[in-house]
Amino acid sequence: MAGRQIITTAQNTWCPGCGNFSIQFTLKSILEQREKDGKSLDNVVLVTGIGCHAKMADYLNVNSFYSLHGRAVPAAVGIKLANPDLTVICCSGDGDSYAEGLDHLVFAAKRNIDITVIVHDNRVYGLTTGQYTPTSPLGFKGKSTPAGTAEFPFNPIELMLASGATYVARGYTRKMDQLKRLVAGGIAHRGFSFIDVLQICATFFPAADYYDPRVYDLPESGLENFEAACIKAKEWDYSSDAKIGLGMFYTRSLPTFDRHMPVPVVTGADRDRAISELLEARR
Ligand code: SF4
Repeated sequence: MAGRQIITTAQNTWCPGCGNFSIQFTLKSILEQREKDGKSLDNVVLVTGIGCHAKMADYLNVNSFYSLHGRAVPAAVGIKLANPDLTVICCSGDGDSYAEGLDHLVFAAKRNIDITVIVHDNRVYGLTTGQYTPTSPLGFKGKSTPAGTAEFPFNPIELMLASGATYVARGYTRKMDQLKRLVAGGIAHRGFSFIDVLQICATFFPAADYYDPRVYDLPESGLENFEAACIKAKEWDYSSDAKIGLGMFYTRSLPTFDRHMPVPVVTGADRDRAISELLEARR
């Protein structure tokens, strides 16, 4: 379907000022460019988890799969392995990917599955009204921690570097041009692409005043230097007052999972027959 309206007519229930809008318009712009370049959007699949971010599946007019909490990444992996011709973009939340779904994230990176994971890292559970997540800063006061959290956040950039991700970046929803470059680069990258997006939650963690004076652009050279990437990743621990680097931390080219374990070639007819048999067996 060419020239499609990318934003759907579904009623949008994100709060005014929510950073999800920036990610939505980043994806819209990338998808429109893809069509202009003559690439069909019929081969794009968007997978989401559960959380405010997950409504992206309702709001963008592409093939989509609205999965379970913490299970966006394995659903995206399954879709990609079943049909390697698809471009699979996985939107997930910080609670979604860094708590319930952490093991899936780590192993998708370890296996260098050719998908793009965008984590809407608002550092709070927004949909359930403000509980702390694995990236909430030390002392974060929310519904489940009224006296403040007593644990340090973990650093997803370090985690993904250690797990073997071959494209590791950090964006910010108030830097949309850069975010677009990072996401487009992740989609173009052959291998596991990870973009942690510092996303403003206007209602439960409106952190723009914290981020804005601290963010700066990372250098764009030496991106295959793993040790340098680790040093850059440690600069800000998601809790301290340090400067916050935005951009690319690391990228390298490595064989993807399907190169080591070729997926059997399945034709459209095979797939239709398998689906019919499955449905028939459930009658
Ligand atoms: Fe966005 Fe936060 Fe509102 Fe959820 S609760 S829609 S993340 S501003």
